[in-house]
Amino acid sequence: MTTANRQIVFAKRPNGWPTPDCFAMRTVPLQDPADGQISVRTIYMSMDPSMRGRMDPARSYAAGWELGEPCKTRMVGRVTATRADAFNEGDLVYGRTLDWADYTVVPAKAVSGLNPNADGLPLSYHLGALGMPGMTAWVGLGMAEPKATDTLFVSAASGAVGQIVGQIGKLKGMRVVGSAGTDTKVKYLTDDLGFDAAFNYKAAGDDILDALSGAAPDGLDVYFDNVGGRVLEAALDHANDRARIIICGLISQYNQPRDEIQGIRNLTHINRKRLRMEGFIVSDHEARRAEFEAEMIGWLKSGQFKYKVDEVAGLENAPAAMIGMLRGENFGKRVVKVSDP
Ligand code: NDP
Repeated sequence: MTTANRQIVFAKRPNGWPTPDCFAMRTVPLQDPADGQISVRTIYMSMDPSMRGRMDPARSYAAGWELGEPCKTRMVGRVTATRADAFNEGDLVYGRTLDWADYTVVPAKAVSGLNPNADGLPLSYHLGALGMPGMTAWVGLGMAEPKATDTLFVSAASGAVGQIVGQIGKLKGMRVVGSAGTDTKVKYLTDDLGFDAAFNYKAAGDDILDALSGAAPDGLDVYFDNVGGRVLEAALDHANDRARIIICGLISQYNQPRDEIQGIRNLTHINRKRLRMEGFIVSDHEARRAEFEAEMIGWLKSGQFKYKVDEVAGLENAPAAMIGMLRGENFGKRVVKVSDP
């Protein structure tokens, strides 16, 4: 019987890029659940860019991590002990803010069961295509009111969110263009996901606009922005009149100290080209989860959609997995596998 629990705690705030010493592993006695609580064994932990914001003291839409306490994440796990009526031992559950740990003891209301219609799909999809990133793609692209005659550009296109944005765009008949940071990722977009064109923004160096113009000769009608910075500037330069720019995230700036954050130099296109630029946070759209899941499960089960998951093994490797994801080492949705299902 297990009596010890490994946890990874938030040890130090980063200034700029997070480093391994921002995290520390500790072993504590495994708690028994109290009345109304359950104990969850971690199977998969999600590594999300938004975790970087949780390391900063500034107020954000998501609660910050507390120094000396376990880092938190979305996860899929199995109930190993219960003192709550809602769950039985052995149930698979999904939680939004559980510990980076072998086990987390939480009130039963901190988790939910998995959608039974998803049975047969990989468990890790609940953190990717079928989970928060997939819903981000679905909600965000919907906000752009996509039309079959549109050209869609998506950045970080081979990542957790980007893969789905592009495939929904294709399903809607759009011309879809993506950018990513390696030639292998770029090839995956065109050869496996059916993007019409893609380019390597790192190889393009200072010529991102040329690369984008080559991939989208008729300009852009929708830009789904995951990265900000110079890619966003190129998209604004290349946008058609009345294009819609959906600001999903600005990962190129997350690790910049405040005085090194890149300003966007061509915002004047917003009025001259009558652009609409809008940001969103997926959790504001929770009321639409059932609608999203039904549609996404259909697409995944029919084989219409593909989804790449990038699995790192071992709780002890979670800090490197997170830092590597921020650097673009992930190819697909990054998860850490802590134990077998
Ligand atoms: P990904 O799986 O795409 O992983 C992050 C990727 O970002 C890396 O693999 C890397 O890919 C790319 N990247 C890193 N640094 C840079 C850079 N300097 N310039 C360009 N690209 C870079 O992450 P997600 O799909 O989970 O998240 C994508 C975006 O969506 C993030 O900005 C995230 O914060 C945001 N998001 C927003 C949500 C919302 O509610 N608005 C919800 C979920 C995510 P590459 O090799 O291509 O460079």
